Amino acid sequence: MELLALPAFTDNYIWMLHNGRHALVVDPGDAAPVLEALRQRGLTLTAILVTHHHPDHIGGLAGLQSLHATVYGPLNEGIEGLTHKLQEGDVVHWEGLDIKVLDVPGHTAGHIAYLIEHAPDQHAFDPIAFVGDTLFSGGCGRLFDGTMAQLHASLTRLKQLPGATRVCAAHEYTLSNLRFAKAVEPNNLDLGAYQSHCEALRAQALPTLPGTMRNEKAVNPFLRCTEPEVVSSALQHGAKDASPEAVFAALRLWKNTF
Ligand code: FE
Ligand code: ZN
Repeated sequence: MELLALPAFTDNYIWMLHNGRHALVVDPGDAAPVLEALRQRGLTLTAILVTHHHPDHIGGLAGLQSLHATVYGPLNEGIEGLTHKLQEGDVVHWEGLDIKVLDVPGHTAGHIAYLIEHAPDQHAFDPIAFVGDTLFSGGCGRLFDGTMAQLHASLTRLKQLPGATRVCAAHEYTLSNLRFAKAVEPNNLDLGAYQSHCEALRAQALPTLPGTMRNEKAVNPFLRCTEPEVVSSALQHGAKDASPEAVFAALRLWKNTF
């Protein structure tokens, strides 16, 4: 299985997983990069996974319809063209993989994520999480139709995934997220090293994703709401108390205007 990040628009990634014959894609906001990747590699698209209803994640569905792939997506997001509607606990079986569905509301009210824990042959494999716009490297999604409490709970849940989990987010927002993270935690030494690493990747036009959950737990302030420096920065930016919920809410609001 090869995992690819297909760039789309200015900062989206359409994730592709393939075994040399069959491919799946996640959140095809645009059909063109998917069609091109399939053509270049001689692959057949057999499955599409969608995380939420925003146009930059579903805009390519119509253009891929003629390929007759199975289209999976969230139950409650009103998305047209799904062949299977999913929610927490559902499992998509594809090419020997079990792809688990997690409800991760917040960015949108019905946002789901997809988790692959094991390789089809049970060989050594780092888990893959397709998290859409819930968790980004160094940051998290904005609130649209979900609530602050939902987003906090969803991120708290994703944080429990194994450290080796490859976090496949849908946007290349890493460098700007890290500028904010540094404002929150100026003394976090892991941040500077990761920032240099990501700057070098972007200078070569390479994706900073997927990151690992282990690294996100070290650098992403939205996953660090109990760290003393994060708490104190949040308290200086409107957190009503030092609870993780209040710290998270203050960070999310602060980031909106950063
Ligand atoms: Fe979105
Ligand atoms: Zn998006």
